[in-house]
Amino acid sequence: MSCQKTSYILEKEQVSKISLWEKISMKFHLLICALCRKYKSDSKILGKILKGLHQHKTHHHLSDPEKSELKKKLNVN
Ligand SMILES: [Zn+2]
Repeated sequence: MSCQKTSYILEKEQVSKISLWEKISMKFHLLICALCRKYKSDSKILGKILKGLHQHKTHHHLSDPEKSELKKKLNVN
């Protein structure tokens, strides 16, 4: 499995379910590839932010104070 495919599966895992085969091939690649292990720990942080955003959207609309709080967290203006 290539690094490109591994990073694709890592990203997919953040937003949806991955198959058992994808999981196994990803884990195997992570064992042999330090670059992808680093990518995985980075993408975990991103995934948390994305999940937080998603939950906000499904539960209620953001109020203005919440929006600015979120922007602060994401470091955007
Ligand atoms: Zn790799």
